Order: sequence, then C-alpha cells, then structure tokens
Amino acid sequence: MIPFKNEPFVDFSVAENAQAMQDAWHKVNKELGRHYPLIIGGEKIETEQKITSINPSEKSQIVGTTGKASQALAEEAMQAALAAFETWKKETPEVRARLLFKAAALLRRRKFEFSAWLSYEAGKTRAEADADTAEAIDFMEYYGRQALELAERGKKTLISLTGEDNRLDYIPLGVGIVIPPWNFPLAIMAGMTTAAIVSGNTVVLKPASTTPVIAAKFVELLEDAGLPAGVVNFLPGSGAEVGDYLVDHPKTRFISFTGSRDIGLRIFERSSRTNKGQIWMKRLVAEMGGKDSIIVHKDADLELAALNIVNSAFGFSGQKCSACSRAIIHQDVYDEVVNRVVKLTSKLTVGNVTDPGNYTGPVIDENAYNKILEYIEIGKQEGKLAAGGEKAPGNGYFIQPTVFVDVAPDARIMQEEIFGPVVGITKASDFGHALEIANNTEYGLTGSVFAKDRAVIEKAREQFHVGNLYFNRKCTGALVGVHPFGGFNMSGTDSKAGGPDYLMLFTQQKLSSEVL
Ligand code: NAP
Repeated sequence: MIPFKNEPFVDFSVAENAQAMQDAWHKVNKELGRHYPLIIGGEKIETEQKITSINPSEKSQIVGTTGKASQALAEEAMQAALAAFETWKKETPEVRARLLFKAAALLRRRKFEFSAWLSYEAGKTRAEADADTAEAIDFMEYYGRQALELAERGKKTLISLTGEDNRLDYIPLGVGIVIPPWNFPLAIMAGMTTAAIVSGNTVVLKPASTTPVIAAKFVELLEDAGLPAGVVNFLPGSGAEVGDYLVDHPKTRFISFTGSRDIGLRIFERSSRTNKGQIWMKRLVAEMGGKDSIIVHKDADLELAALNIVNSAFGFSGQKCSACSRAIIHQDVYDEVVNRVVKLTSKLTVGNVTDPGNYTGPVIDENAYNKILEYIEIGKQEGKLAAGGEKAPGNGYFIQPTVFVDVAPDARIMQEEIFGPVVGITKASDFGHALEIANNTEYGLTGSVFAKDRAVIEKAREQFHVGNLYFNRKCTGALVGVHPFGGFNMSGTDSKAGGPDYLMLFTQQKLSSEVL
C-alpha cells in the first residue's frame, strides 16, 4: 500500500489548468437545473416537495433541485440503513477501505468538474473549490488506511498471556445520522460519511439544505465506486423536521454533526434523552463554531502577520469555522499592523467566482447576507470602521471585506460568530494580555501567533486554549493527516477529523479471550 500523501493543489498559474477549470465551469453550467431525487435503500424516491439550490453569485440561477424528505421517508431511510447494517458490518475492513480508494480515484479523475459544482453551489473561487475537492480525496485515502490500521491495532497492542488467545476488535456501532454543514459541502460531507461507513456503520445522510446538489453528486460517485444499496441513504430535508426526527429515533446509534453552536447544542440535548425501545446511549460527534484569533507580538514579521490576517479572515468570505475574526495586536506595533491590514484589504475584489480576477465570492444565502450586514451595523457602534462596511455590487450575496479597529475585547463582534467577511482588531498591552483576550470567548477552535521570541511561542503553546494552534502561519487550511482538526469548549467535541483517532469515534471495542 502506498503511504498516505496529501492531494496536491492545482496550480492555476499554469495556463492548461486555468483552461481546464474554464472548461469544467462551462460543462457544469450546461448541467444546471437538473433534479436529484432521494436515495433510500438504493431506490430513487421522488417527493412532491423540493429543495431548490441557488447560485449565490447569481441569484437568478438554479443550480438544481433535490427531493425533500418527510418524516415518513426519514423512517424508511432508517429502516433501509438498519437492514443494510446486517450485511455491511460483516464486510472486512479491506473491502470497505477499497471502496473508499476507488471513490477517491474517481473523484481525482473528475476533480475540476466537482470543483466547478462547488463554485456554482457554494460560491467558491477556483482555488477554494480545489482545496475542498482535494480535502475530500484526502479524507477517503486517509480513512481507508486508518480502517486497515485499526483492524491491526487490536491484535498488536495487547499484552500477551501464555495459554490465552486475546484480541481486541474495533467493531461498528450501527446506524448513524450524518449532518454536515454547507461551507465545506464536499470535503466535510464526504469525510463524515466515509469515516462512518469505512468503520462498518450504515448512515442516513442529511445534507445542508443550501448545498444538496454537491452531496447528490457525491452519492452518485459512491454508487459508481460500487457502494451497496442502503449503506448511505441520501435524505435531503429540513433540519428542523427530519433532523429532529432522526436525532430522536431510538434506533439511531450515533450522530455525526458539523455546524453551528446552536444546532449542535440542540442535538446534544435531544440525543441525550432515551426514547422508548432505545437500548443504548447515543454517541454524539459534534464539531461546531469558532471565534478565532490571530495574535501579533511586537517582534513579529509584521508584513507576514498582516498578510495572514487578511487571508485567514477573508478567504471564502470568512465562511470557515477556522476563519480569523479577531486580531489581537501588541500596542508597540498596533498602528503599523492595522495600516497594513487595511491597505491589503482595500485591494481585495469581490464578485462572481467564475471570474478568476475576483479574490472572493458571495456569502451563502439571503439569511447569511442579512445577518452579516446586521453585524456590520453593530460593528459601527462598537469600533471604528477601517475598510469595507457595506454590500458589494452584483446579482449575488456580495459583501465587502470589512475591518473594524479599536474594538473592545468583550464587544459583540469580538464574541459572537459572524461567519462572514468581518474582522475586529484590538490592542493588547503585552503578550500576557493578548493571551487573556484570545482565551476570553466561549469557543476554542483555531488560533495563530506571530512571534519570534521562543519563550513567547512556548507560553502560547501552553496557554492558548484552542484545538488547532498555529505559529507564524494562517489559522485556516488544516490538512488531512497533518493537522487533525477539532476544537474545545463550544467549538465541539474535539473529534480531530483527519487524525489518527477519528475512526475510534465510529467504533466500539470488543475484547475476546480464549483459553488455549
Ligand atoms: P447549521 O445551521 O448548524 O446547519 C448544519 C446542519 O445541521 C445542516 O445540515 C442543517 O440542515 C442541520 N440542521 C439544522 N437544524 C437541525 C436540527 N434541528 N436537527 C438536526 N440537524 C439540523 O450550520 P451551517 O450554517 O450549515 O454551517 C456553519 C456553521 O458550521 C458555523 O457555525 C461553522 O463554524 C460550523 N462549522 C464547524 C466546523 C468544525 O469543524 N468545527 C466545520 C465547518 C463548519 P439545514 O441546512 O436543512 O438547516
């Protein structure tokens, strides 16, 4: 087996690659508007109600429609997953891993096409879309290998006892409900789904309602790779209606959720209740929001720091759980860093993502657009507007990258997740003060420190309480296998997706001991 290696990113400065992306946008453009039914137990199910997916760069364009599940269909999906579990759990880890490797190979072949769907449905620029597709490939290559490794681990790690044959097996849990967010609609959705199935579970996949088409495309790809019917049941539908129903279901064994703090807490509460006929405690893997800080110490490379604040804050219009939404700058270098950040930000262009000249694209939908603009108005009361501060022109949900300076650390825009292109900057009197500010939210997902002093770096390593801590680099862009990802406190259960222990969350350990 070839050792795991991250999928390389496409270099769009190479003319051939830039052309391949243009061709893919062109091809996908001709496929917009199609319909994708539910898939339950391998059967395509039509529904009267539909979910319509809109291109956020061009509101009048329909990316596609999908079926919309009722609770009765959610029940059918649960029954299909329960039935498929009886055979899928008996497949060997090799068979299950091979399916992921095949799916990864198919996705690699159709890389530009999937990235083009990400541009149309999620508003990703070609570089952001390519990173999403590459990460989906990585998850499958990585989890396939991890499943094989886990199968061996139990045999190797036990202490031997003469006269006994002892083994520890990592067996699957049962039926899981997979509930991904829209912001990495391919990578996170594919990672959550394939981690669960490669471990021997079957799932009901409820995609985010703003990005169901890319999920439908991925389920088609799994079928092309040879996935047996009923292992993944594709169930687009309303979170409130079928989400609650499936979370409450007594046969649900685990829930794998990535999304906002509020929905995560709702699922946490509901899944902790035991319902009639339920014989287990449900397991919850929940990765939630962030309010991520970059600290700039007085000895830092200031240009590097400013560049990384801007890229971490405004890449994909700030719609990453890891995005920098707070910059905490040492007072000695505050004015200089602020000036550089403002200068860099004012050069950024916002618009339709199929124009490669645009640095970033739209926010995902009207709700997000209105909510972010409301936060910008709050920011105008809480700090000094230094860049952006309003909508940007075009027929999409475009908002200018926005910088507020001189914001108090406890201001609302410094505490609440905005999930858009807004960063607040605050001044710290010394490094201890900077750390105190960085740790003063209820979240704990990512953070970066720009500093040269070794003692300062070590102090941050010990005291900056986040799941993913970076030094002298951006706080976004975790790589599978390299930077296992997940946060503390209200950022979730710290599952460390893309890490060596992730599959443990989808298995239970069975010890068997035989006297020889
Ligand atoms: P969201 O509104 O919480 O939705 C996430 C998923 O939950 C969607 O599929 C949604 O379905 C579903 N849902 C809604 N109500 C539900 C219910 N009552 N029961 C079950 N499921 C329900 O989050 P989002 O806007 O998609 O994503 C953005 C959030 O995700 C941000 O807070 C971001 O920080 C976080 N995020 C975290 C990570 C991480 O690794 N920590 C990674 C990416 C994103 P509908 O679409 O149908 O409502």
